[in-house]
Amino acid sequence: MSALIITIESYGGDDKKAEMELTSRIPEAARANLQLTTTWAMDLVRSLGNDLKFIYDWKCYVCEKPAGETFYILAAWTHLTPPRVHIFIHNLCAIDQGPCHLEVEATSAELKRESGHPGPPPAIKRPSPPPPNGMTHWPLTGACAKCWKEETATNGSLSRCGRCKMTRYCGRDCQVADWDKHKKVCKMVKSVRWFVE
Ligand SMILES: [Zn+2]
Ligand SMILES: [Zn+2]
Ligand SMILES: [Zn+2]
Repeated sequence: MSALIITIESYGGDDKKAEMELTSRIPEAARANLQLTTTWAMDLVRSLGNDLKFIYDWKCYVCEKPAGETFYILAAWTHLTPPRVHIFIHNLCAIDQGPCHLEVEATSAELKRESGHPGPPPAIKRPSPPPPNGMTHWPLTGACAKCWKEETATNGSLSRCGRCKMTRYCGRDCQVADWDKHKKVCKMVKSVRWFVE
C-alpha cells in the first residue's frame, strides 16, 4: 500500500464539530517496515498543526470561552492496510493550565476504559510549547492562519482557502504569503464536513 489515511475530528463548544479526511503518499523509504512508517506518520501529523487550527472560530469544548489552544489525542493504526491515523482535536481555552484540559483528559481515559478498548499504540499527546515571541497566549483559533491577528478572530470576514475549504485567512495577501507552507497540507485534504449550525 502506498497512502496513509488521516481522519480528523475537531471539537468545539456548543456541540460544534468538523470532520476532515486527508491522505498522503507514503514515501518509499518509509515503507520498509512498520517502525519507519509510524515514525514518518507521526512527523507528518505534527506538521499539520497550524493548518488544522485556524479553520473556525471555535469556543472552548468545556467552558465555551474563545478557544486558543488545541489538545490532540492521536490513535495510529499504521499496521493496517491501508494504514490509518485518527486525530481527535479538542479546541480549548487553555492547555497545561486550568480545569478544561484536565476534564478532556479524564473523559478520554474513561471512554477508553469503558469501551474495553486497549488503546491503539502509540497514543501521543502534543506537548504545549510556550507562545511565540512577544505573545502572552496562543492566538485564537478564529484568527488568520498567517498573521494571527486576533481582531480578525470574531469579525466573521475571514475566508477559507478555496482549494481545501478548511484553513482561513484575513485576505488574499496572507493566503499568498502562506501558500508555500500551506500547500503541502492543502493538497492532502480530500474532504471537510462541518457540523456548526
Ligand atoms: Zn475552557
Ligand atoms: Zn492575515
Ligand atoms: Zn488550502
